[in-house]
Amino acid sequence: MTDYVAAIDQGTTSTRCVVFSHEGRVVAIDQREHEQIFPRAGWVEHDPVEIWANTRTVVAGALAKGDLAPSDVVAVGITNQRETAVVWDRTTGEPVYNAIVWQDTRTDRIAADLGALGGGQERYRATTGLPLATYFSGPKVRWILDNVDGARARAEAGDLLFGTVDTWLLWNMTGGVDGGAHLTDPTNASRTLLMDLSTLDWDADIAAEMGIPLSMLPDIRPSAGEFGRVRERGALGGVPITGILGDQQAATFGQACLDPGEAKNTYGTGNFVLLNTGTERVASENGLLTTVCYQLGDRPPVYALEGSIAVTGSLVQWVRDNLGMIGTAAEIEEHARSVEDNGGCYFVPAFSGLFAPYWRADARGAIVGLTRFVTKGHLARAVLEATAYQTREVIEAMNADSGVPLTSLKVDGGMVVNDLLMGFQADILGVPVIRPVVAETTALGAAYAAGLAVGFWAGEADLRANWAKDEEWAPSMPEAERERLFRQWKKAVTRTFDWAGN
Ligand code: ADP
Repeated sequence: MTDYVAAIDQGTTSTRCVVFSHEGRVVAIDQREHEQIFPRAGWVEHDPVEIWANTRTVVAGALAKGDLAPSDVVAVGITNQRETAVVWDRTTGEPVYNAIVWQDTRTDRIAADLGALGGGQERYRATTGLPLATYFSGPKVRWILDNVDGARARAEAGDLLFGTVDTWLLWNMTGGVDGGAHLTDPTNASRTLLMDLSTLDWDADIAAEMGIPLSMLPDIRPSAGEFGRVRERGALGGVPITGILGDQQAATFGQACLDPGEAKNTYGTGNFVLLNTGTERVASENGLLTTVCYQLGDRPPVYALEGSIAVTGSLVQWVRDNLGMIGTAAEIEEHARSVEDNGGCYFVPAFSGLFAPYWRADARGAIVGLTRFVTKGHLARAVLEATAYQTREVIEAMNADSGVPLTSLKVDGGMVVNDLLMGFQADILGVPVIRPVVAETTALGAAYAAGLAVGFWAGEADLRANWAKDEEWAPSMPEAERERLFRQWKKAVTRTFDWAGN
């Protein structure tokens, strides 16, 4: 087979285009970072125009590196940072405001006011699977309509469109003002607080309550299926777009977690553990989300339980960019290896409040346990350990919700090159941690969805056959030590509560 499938992976920190072979191996890749805009404390924005420009650049870059023509690519899939909201004018193609990023907490008042109508944080959980939190897109759209001059009138006149980043890219790739397709898939739609998990359609009552005109919302189509064709002027001109998956669902798909009970954890800007629960929706009683995992063509949707952690890899970035303690992310491991343990120091990175399993918008970060003994090395260790403890918290919640204890964890994402972190993760969980050969699981998942839709891969068996183990970390820490460390962590977490918004 000489043909390939391409994936556009539009992440929080960068945009990639990855071309895959039939064996699921990377043939060519190009990547570009975009600006993180922090206008004030708690606010995080991206420029959607920069993201669209970077997308065109990396698509052209990947094809050039692989010496490929559009005719070598049978289909393209899109995967994206989820929840990040873009509102633009359908007649000019111009965004009315920057993209409000998933980590942004400016909607805490909107979320609290909606909860005060009754039901509090749980108001929409039965319908949408989500707690009312700043994380999700719907309230971000409401904020734009409330705060950008004239936006609400333009939205009500039908001139404004909303999309998560998949939709923004799809609309531009398929022609923009000249007939661009305004579509999304159920994995992205299930993160808006506006989609009914059982019908996979918008809930008109919730949209009305949130003050969002239905005319702004894209149509929801299966994750694997027809979305449109790339316009001729692009580097992938004429290629069909046949897959869309939110990044975490894409990674779950790319890790071939295709049976109920299979789970993965992606270590990127934040961490996201997803457990495939099959065609059954499992309601969480322990602070997890119920979400759509994927929908292939006209088959019933597959659901997942998700533990979303806001800050993991971005804490390493913060240590690099805000403290200047390291020059590159990889240096955190050298510092951490200079000491035996954390020296009693714990770092709870509640920069965006705390997500799963706490959902506390009022939390803010804390470093606790400091003494004169603590060095840069201990701090570096505390930074890495924070990722592992937070992961254990959501996996404990998952075990409780599903009633089935996890026996091993498949991992991927930018942080899994960190051997110290992966070893500590196995220790603190008490189960093996397994990394696959293809680390680009997010892009691979989007490519799989697109390739399945055009028959490039025949079915799920092909995806399972492509999965191969690269490395496995086995736990070796004595149980008493594991539990002592985790107890201390839980105590540290309580120190972050009741901080913001007072
Ligand atoms: P995303 O897809 O969310 O943009 P990636 O999967 O590319 O993120 O992961 C990037 C994250 O991984 C960054 O936050 C970075 O700080 C972190 N990271 C990269 N290399 C290392 C390393 N060696 N040790 C720890 N963290 C790392």
